[in-house]
Amino acid sequence: MAGIDYGAIPESLAVTAVEPGDRDYPRYTASFLRGGAPALVLRPKNPAQVQDAVRFAASQRDVPLGILSAGHGISGRSLNYGGLVIDVSALDHVTPRGGRRVDIGPGARWIDVARILTPLGLAITSGDYGGVGVGGLATAGGIGWFAREHGLTIDHLRSVDVVTADGELLHASEDDNPDLFWAMRGAGANFGVAVDFEFEAVPVGDVAFAQLTFAVTDVAEFLENWGTALEASDRTVTATVLLGATRRGRANYAQATVVVDSGDSDVVLERLQPILRTAPLAQRSVAMTSYEEVMGAYLQEGRQQGVGEPLSHSAFARHLDPELSSELAAMLESGASHFFTIRSVGGAISDVPSLATAYGWRGANFALVALGSPDSGLDAWWARLSPSFEGMYLSFESDTGPENLAVAFPPAHLTRLRGLKRTYDPSGLFRDNFFIDPDVDTE
Ligand SMILES: Cc1cc2nc3c(=O)[nH]c(=O)nc-3n(C[C@H](O)[C@H](O)[C@H](O)COP(=O)(O)OP(=O)(O)OC[C@H]3O[C@@H](n4cnc5c(N)ncnc54)[C@H](O)[C@@H]3O)c2cc1C
Repeated sequence: MAGIDYGAIPESLAVTAVEPGDRDYPRYTASFLRGGAPALVLRPKNPAQVQDAVRFAASQRDVPLGILSAGHGISGRSLNYGGLVIDVSALDHVTPRGGRRVDIGPGARWIDVARILTPLGLAITSGDYGGVGVGGLATAGGIGWFAREHGLTIDHLRSVDVVTADGELLHASEDDNPDLFWAMRGAGANFGVAVDFEFEAVPVGDVAFAQLTFAVTDVAEFLENWGTALEASDRTVTATVLLGATRRGRANYAQATVVVDSGDSDVVLERLQPILRTAPLAQRSVAMTSYEEVMGAYLQEGRQQGVGEPLSHSAFARHLDPELSSELAAMLESGASHFFTIRSVGGAISDVPSLATAYGWRGANFALVALGSPDSGLDAWWARLSPSFEGMYLSFESDTGPENLAVAFPPAHLTRLRGLKRTYDPSGLFRDNFFIDPDVDTE
């Protein structure tokens, strides 16, 4: 393909590189949610080779660059058309270091992490889907089970090794390169390729996993009840509820998944009661299980099959108050979103000061995600609802244009990020995921 200097591929990467027509190329034509057709894929096996790959990428002017860990990007475009992809999936180690510390490579998936930590009685809050990669999630935030009890994934990060735009390998922690460490916890995709994360896990034993189906006749009332019940619940409770487009005149089934971090079934049932009362139940099952089982519950193994581009909008809400609940119900009634979820945030996430990390919207109790299609009217609905929102989680948003940067980051965070971008990536090499343009003046 034009625009790539194939002859200059570094020797260390030439043998494993993948070009169109190669046997391994079809893997790079689909990620979990989107398609692609890159001109060249570099597959480093260690940090030194990632350095070679980044230096090569920097020498290819104006070629799109994707960083691929496990291919679940919604905002990130880890694949592209006609560009370069650095696939770090081979850096997939999960190495407990004794105590609660564990080193994890970006190419590991969270199910791999759970499989190793669960027998040790440990866990890291890490999203709700085991197929998601450590590289993409741990550089953006990480909203997951135990979030209300233990905070975000990045709140358990103690250090990260990063290959920056000039090909340097930097160790970032509270003591070493603290500015870079701050930026990597929420805006990491703008600052380099993370090659190793050092986490501090938390003790977790048996947990309860509840799958509940509510028959909802009044969606607005249900959302309000849901919000009130979740905000009042114990911090060991984390939940996600999924609603589809309402079919006029028929019950809308709300599918909820609730995790309670307790191995005591009496405690679990007591903590679930207010949630069970939010609407009539059509179905319920509650299992006492493990973190590993929870992370594997909905896992789809096998080749990724995404095509095209997803349309996904993201927002944080402090409360599901009556006004927002009835607006969201009207949006579902309109058919604008066929897949709408509300995840728990708040709790321990809100205990961390907003300015402590690049992830800044810590006051919210709910993370909202709506999937639609270009002609479903979702864009207009999201714009209409935006006054009720308080920022967004960038990882769930597919519109990564510059106007959305100020929604993804609070003003003080964005100002600091722009300054740091000028230091660490002045030419804007890393630009596939909410690009912070170093040439734009600080707002
Ligand atoms: C089914 C599904 C469920 C999800 N559930 C959750 C959830 O519960 N909580 C949550 O917080 N998020 C969730 N997400 C969002 C997910 O965290 C992000 O999409 C994340 O970026 C995916 O990471 P990945 O490594 O799998 O993706 P990739 O597609 O490989 O990467 C996505 C982007 O992340 C960046 N990136 C990847 N690797 C690195 C690296 N090593 N260094 C620097 N930047 C990198 C790049 O910008 C890249 O384009 C979910 C996504 C999906 C598809």
